Amino acid sequence: MSLIVQKFGGSSVADAGRVRNVARIITETYRKGHSVVAVLSAQGDTTDELIEKAREINPQASRREMDMLLSTGEQVSIALCAMAIERMGCQAVSLAGWQAGVVTDSNHSAARIKPIRTERIRKELDKKKIVLVAGFQGISRYGDVTTLGRGGSDTSAVALAAALHADLCQIYTDVDGIYTADPRKVRGARKLEEITFSEMMELASLGAQVLHNRSVEMAKRYGVCLEVLSSFSGQPGTNVKEVVKTVEKTHVSGVAKDENVARLALVGLADRPGIAFKVFSLLAKHEVNVDLIIQSIGRAESKDISFTVALGDARKAKELMEEHREEIGFQFVELNEDIAKVSVVGAGMAHNSGVACKVFEALYSAGVNINMISTSEIKVSVLVDQREADRAVQAIHDRFFA
Ligand code: ASP
Ligand code: MG
Repeated sequence: MSLIVQKFGGSSVADAGRVRNVARIITETYRKGHSVVAVLSAQGDTTDELIEKAREINPQASRREMDMLLSTGEQVSIALCAMAIERMGCQAVSLAGWQAGVVTDSNHSAARIKPIRTERIRKELDKKKIVLVAGFQGISRYGDVTTLGRGGSDTSAVALAAALHADLCQIYTDVDGIYTADPRKVRGARKLEEITFSEMMELASLGAQVLHNRSVEMAKRYGVCLEVLSSFSGQPGTNVKEVVKTVEKTHVSGVAKDENVARLALVGLADRPGIAFKVFSLLAKHEVNVDLIIQSIGRAESKDISFTVALGDARKAKELMEEHREEIGFQFVELNEDIAKVSVVGAGMAHNSGVACKVFEALYSAGVNINMISTSEIKVSVLVDQREADRAVQAIHDRFFA
């Protein structure tokens, strides 16, 4: 008998029929003799709707009250699902984050989970109950309800799986696994049987949007075996783990696009030591995360530095630079928000040469211009015009997977 954590996303519990479907998956697992802890998201677009409701009342609502409001969505799901399970003849108990011992820091709307106090869940499992836990939420040491940030239920599930030493953490969603590219947009995208944590981390942060970044980070750190699968198809999904057997054969796992980026260029920087330090320490101090950085030789005693930040940070970063223009010493700063980052990820890349070259070749054939390039052990990223991003993804995908 194993302990399995199953997580169901918002679309999987969107209406009564789907809640029943989830209850059926859970009870089938339970009836095979496993202990089941299920983590649920809010139904469908509930979270967005709640955010909208708050806006109508107070667009500047405090994060504490936002958390109080948003956490209700997940509680509706677990209670309804518990009722569906009871109807199917099994015993279930639904627990809000605080009841399940999910303690977090007090950073409202982006809280981090502290070690989970699992006594209550253990007690319920010992009583042979199916335990349903509200995802995305916890409680701070001040006794306030917190949420983990959008998409945070994945992280709740992985954290619970780690704390309970579960044998498996299944993430049920509306796609049937991890694909080589977004199957809704890219012709020929196909499902991967397995993928490494590192690749998945890159793909998630690159905008593949299947798993919440922090959940994968956490799964890697605690060695939680993940399976991503569909709650509708009944087919096996994609396993996410430390090492996969197919790494040697396929050196590229996927192509992803991230439109949530903006590029800033500092033009005409003085050419002397310490400038880059000034720029990036300023950004770090103001919690602006920088991704790609390029420094190039400029003209006569000057140089340029370009870097990318998340779209939401772009204005702030620009203002920061302008405020400190004289102190840093540059002529002007340019902001471009109409760009996208396209990346190719593959754990086998490190041992196979020529991946970057193929990417450039594909983009050249598609007539897509490259703005910036960055590479790491397992990834090649290029910055392109947003208008050309889909074409770029398709061209690169064709080059590797056709
Ligand atoms: N309901 C929350 C959201 O929509 C958390 C989640 O779905 O994981 O972001
Ligand atoms: Mg959701």
